This record gives sequence, C-alpha cells and structure tokens, in this order.
Amino acid sequence: MGDCQVLWSKVLDVIKTSTSPAVFQAFFAVVHPLSFDGEHFILQVDSPLVVDWLRQKYAAAIEAALQQLCGRPVRLILQSNSSASAAPVTPTPSAAETPPPPTPVAVTDLTPPRRPRTLPSNLNPYFTFENFIVGSSNRMAHAAAFATAQNPGKVYNPLFIYGGVGLGKTHLMQAIGHAILSRHERCAVHYVSCERFINQFIEAIQTSTLSKFRDFFRSSIDVLLIDDIQFLSKKESLQEEFYHTFNDLHNQGKQIVMTSDKSPQELEHIENRLVNRFEWGMVVDIQSPDFETRVAIIRKKLETFGKSLDDEICYYLANKVRTDVRKIEGALIRLLGFASVQNKPVTLEMAKECLKDYVTAQTPITLEAIQKAVAEFFDVRVADLRSNRRPKMIAHPRQLAMYLCRDLTTCSLTEIAQAFGGKDHTTVLYACRKIDALKNSDETVEQQIAALRRRILEANPGAL
Ligand code: ADP
Ligand code: MG
Repeated sequence: MGDCQVLWSKVLDVIKTSTSPAVFQAFFAVVHPLSFDGEHFILQVDSPLVVDWLRQKYAAAIEAALQQLCGRPVRLILQSNSSASAAPVTPTPSAAETPPPPTPVAVTDLTPPRRPRTLPSNLNPYFTFENFIVGSSNRMAHAAAFATAQNPGKVYNPLFIYGGVGLGKTHLMQAIGHAILSRHERCAVHYVSCERFINQFIEAIQTSTLSKFRDFFRSSIDVLLIDDIQFLSKKESLQEEFYHTFNDLHNQGKQIVMTSDKSPQELEHIENRLVNRFEWGMVVDIQSPDFETRVAIIRKKLETFGKSLDDEICYYLANKVRTDVRKIEGALIRLLGFASVQNKPVTLEMAKECLKDYVTAQTPITLEAIQKAVAEFFDVRVADLRSNRRPKMIAHPRQLAMYLCRDLTTCSLTEIAQAFGGKDHTTVLYACRKIDALKNSDETVEQQIAALRRRILEANPGAL
C-alpha cells in the first residue's frame, strides 16, 4: 500500500466514527486516494454528486483529520471523473488564517464602499435566502432575518435565533451575511462558529496575540455572525471576552447575529449580564418543519442537484424523515447516491429499500387512526369515509383525511386510495392538491388541518 493509501485509510477511521455505516458505505466506496505530496492530498471521486456532497459535508473534517495525522495543514483536492480540472476545497489563503484587520466601517454608513474587503466572510455559498424554504416552522425567524439583512444594525440587534439541530439556524444566519454582502460588497461580514471563536481566543493567549484578536473582533467587523453560542456555557473567561466584544460592536451600531440550541432563558451556566444582552434585540425560534416544508426542501435540493423525483417518492421521503432537515438531506443524498452507484432510476421500491433502516416512528400512525379522528371531528361515519359510494357532504372530510394520511404516514398513494375504497392513486393526488389549495385560501381549512394534526399526534405520542 502506498503512503497516500495508508494515510487515507487512517482518515477513514476518523470519519467512520461520525458517519452512519450506510452513508459511509454508499459514498466513501466511490472515493479513492490519488496522490499526496506532503501539502496536497488528491482524491479521485467517481461521481459528481458525491463530489458536491463531500465538499459540503466532509471536506473540513477530512482536512482536519489530515492535519491531525500529518502534524501540519494539508489541502484537500477533489477530482471528479467528469471535471476537467480539480479544484481545492478551500480558497487560498485559507479562511482559517487570521487576516490583517481592515479599517472598520460602521454598518450605518455602508454605502459607498470605502475600503477593500480583506476579511474572510466564511460563508457557505449555498446558505442564501433563495435556497431557504419558508414554512410555518420558520416563518418568524425568516422574517426577522430578512429584516435584519435589510437594515443591519438597526432593527433587531442582536438577532438571536434558536432551535434544535439541523433546522436551518446556520443557513438562515449565513443568508443574512450573503444578503448584506450582495448589496454592500465591502461590508466586513464575518461568520464564526462559537467553537472557533473559543479556539482563536485560546490561541491568542498562547501566542500573546490577544490585542490582535481583540482588534479583529471588536474593531474590524461590521456584521458578526456567531454560531452555536451555547458553547460559551461554563467558560467564564470566554464569556467575559464575548461580553466586551458584544458591547464594543453594539455600541458602534454593528450588527450581531447569534444562534443557539436553546432560548436565552434556557441557557445554563451563562452569566446573567450576557443572557440579558442576548434578549436586547429579537429572539426567534425555528421548529421542526411540517410536511409541506419538508417536501419543498426536498424539491429545492433536487433542483440544486439538477435532479427530479416523482411526487410519490418525495412524499415518502418527507414522511420517512421528519424532524431534522439535515437528516432529510442526508436521506435524499443517500437515495440519489444509491441510484447513481447502481446506475438505475429512483423508484419508490428503491427508496423503501435504501431507507429501510431510517427509524421513522416507534408507533407509526395508521390510516385507520386518521380516518377515525377525521370522522369524529366532522361527526360522520368512518364507513362513509372509506366507502367509494358516499353522500355528497362527505367529500371534504374524505379529502382532508386523504391529505392527512399522505402527511402523517409513509403509506403510498395507492395504499391510501385503497383504504378509501378507491382503485388508483389519482383520487388521492387530486384530494391532496385540492386541500393544499384550500389551505392557502381558506383559513378555516388551515385551522381544521392544524387541529386534526394535533389530535392525531396527541393520540399517538410515539409517532414523532
Ligand atoms: P442548524 O444550524 O440549525 O443545525 P443548518 O442551518 O446547518 O442547521 O441546516 C442543516 C441543513 O438543512 C443545511 O444543509 C440547510 O441548507 C438545510 N436546511 C435547513 N432548513 C432549511 C430550509 N428551511 N430550507 C432549505 N434548506 C434548509
Ligand atoms: Mg448550525
């Protein structure tokens, strides 16, 4: 085995520990080490889709593992069969280097630009407002982020976004950065994870460069996007440092955006004076996406991959993985990778096979449970809902029930049609489209759906 193969197998050992075995198998199987010259590590990837996926999800982890194993920074270069030239995954100079601090510009007088932008924004190009799907779970957070991007330093300062993992906090926060940069190219927008902020602080102490660190964070930034602020918990000196950074930036009218996994009030082991400042501006949360948002996210992702899938497969996926957008994306990438490795089009059967080890719900909701809840709600007979020959007044409850079956179960449209005495899936598709349209135009229908969803989920506590 060559040097680069030995090194690659050690990198894989590291990556394996944080990846599900199925994903690992589906993707890393098409990745081969090509060469290593001490500085550049070139990987050959046999699928363009996997190149994107590696770049987005694993490039940083691979570079970190290489650095750890080699004791110095190593640049990762991904080479796909279809790409004429290989490109490094990180720009030069590396965003990790602390740049010389530029002269500060107040957010309030960003135009016209007055200086060249030398500080790295560290933004992921994909995390824009255009790529962010808005639904009931994130509408408030999106509106607040959008308003902040329109008027940095003025409307909501700080903006504090909180919610569970994989729900789009980092995406939304970075979208603010992109939107500001698109209008004020030279604005000093800087994204930093709280962990990185902590590491830079420790490094600054160790190398006696604290004043440089402070200059950078307190004087050269117009918009600070600091991610996962909960990591300040139990770190008193870091909290002190951040307190002063916050005050300096805020006093100069600079915009601060923070994310966290908890609301300020729920954060533990963080000084009151900081928590108090977190609440100065606007605090918004992001919830798990509902069915429509999940489907829309899947479609958006497909669009960016230049792929398409049948509605039924999108619905299946949206029902299979419910709580976390990152997991939904993972499932989609896995499915597309699965199909691409097998060189076959994606079918519903393939989706079921490929995603069979995704745990959806401990006690899945049954079609019968939904029919029963809808029948009780509208005071009609379950038998009427199920029967193909039915009184006219049953039409709406029946369509609503079909809609909820699509929303809350992993049954195929054909299976749903059968449970309602129908022959094929077109009736269900028609019902779903009709309710979708009604939901947007008729508030009563929106409320009926919300109330029924709540009842059904409450009656099946293990379902989510
Ligand atoms: P968090 O920071 O809350 O853990 P991220 O912002 O990293 O989550 O989001 C995880 C993944 O899900 C990202 O790839 C992101 O693009 C995607 N995502 C999350 N919410 C949305 C959304 N509303 N629309 C489109 N993509 C989303
Ligand atoms: Mg995040």
